[in-house]
Amino acid sequence: MQFTDRLLQELTSLRSVGSFRQLPIVPEGVVNLSGNDYLGLLEDEALREAFYAQLKPRASLLSAASSRLLTGNTPEAIELEETLAAAYGTEAALVLGSGYHANTGILPALIGPKSLILSDRLNHASLIDGIRATGVDFYRFRHNDLAHARNYLERYAKDYDEVFVVTESVFSMDGDCTDLKALVQLKRDFPNVVLYLDEAHGVGVFGDKGLGLATAQGVHQEIDILVGTFGKALCSTGAFVVCSQAIRDTLVNKMRPFIFTTALPPINLAWTKFVVNALPTMQARRAHLQTMAAQLAEAIRAKTGACVSTSQIVPYVIGSNEDAIQEAKRFQTAGFYVLPIRPPTVPKGTARLRFSLSAALSSDAFNRLLDVL
Ligand SMILES: *Cc1c(COP(=O)(O)O)cnc(C)c1O
Repeated sequence: MQFTDRLLQELTSLRSVGSFRQLPIVPEGVVNLSGNDYLGLLEDEALREAFYAQLKPRASLLSAASSRLLTGNTPEAIELEETLAAAYGTEAALVLGSGYHANTGILPALIGPKSLILSDRLNHASLIDGIRATGVDFYRFRHNDLAHARNYLERYAKDYDEVFVVTESVFSMDGDCTDLKALVQLKRDFPNVVLYLDEAHGVGVFGDKGLGLATAQGVHQEIDILVGTFGKALCSTGAFVVCSQAIRDTLVNKMRPFIFTTALPPINLAWTKFVVNALPTMQARRAHLQTMAAQLAEAIRAKTGACVSTSQIVPYVIGSNEDAIQEAKRFQTAGFYVLPIRPPTVPKGTARLRFSLSAALSSDAFNRLLDVL
């Protein structure tokens, strides 16, 4: 079969099961409940103006034009890393091109000849790609079941030099949160455990300084590799890891998606630092977000009998792809931009709507949303 014919055949079979993906164009004038702008910073003109007003000419450059290891190690990158390490109270921080770069590159750089990886079954695709790229032994524990992870440790920890336990703080599709106290207990009980926590949906949203769920639960100092992203609540782009100096130095020497890519533009790093410094002042936004999230989860529980969310991401599990598409259309017609999430992004038979709340949502609009539901 010819190449193009094969592609067309594969696309036809995707269509036939309702899994054909297209790039959606967000209609104007709708309430966006599908983005990750949790703090509502995207359209905050006053914040943007305040940023431009203090911007130094040096930091206004639109490109770094080189890797960090060549000439791209700009003062803005260094200052942002100092800001992050100081905020988290860690020895070091490293800024990376994106969360996808972070998660595909960190584990391959850190694994040794006798490493084991334990991974939550619902970890983000970028983590799965990073784990696969290591080529080392790994097991997937049942979603958010740290007792299951503990079983694996009891059986296998002694056979390895170190065991990486990899999970997320706030899960992107179910909006449920990891019990981080139980997570760090694993490390206390098994000294060769190394904890890797992805806070892509926690940073900005949790903690009284907006630094994530690990700081909210007071355990961030015990997380060895804490990854956060800038493209979601922080309304910027890029990612970071806060860690020990030894881990940072190893990443700088061995992490391919750090070494072989152009550094982020100075203007972007300056904006990220500006937002990070402003996070402690955004407590009211976080409170508004959490109040809405709790109400929406309760309404979905009342309607469907189940909703595991304890965060700003609230799933409404429907089941079949076609029903999810129809229900999404109903919300869209009512002015709420909600998208159906289908397999393979979520497990088969759990197609859903995923409400991704934002502090920019007014109480009026939120109450209308509850009515439509
Ligand atoms: C979005 C996301 C990423 C990827 O981050 P980007 O900066 O968008 O590449 C990584 N992990 C999780 C859990 C995410 O939700």
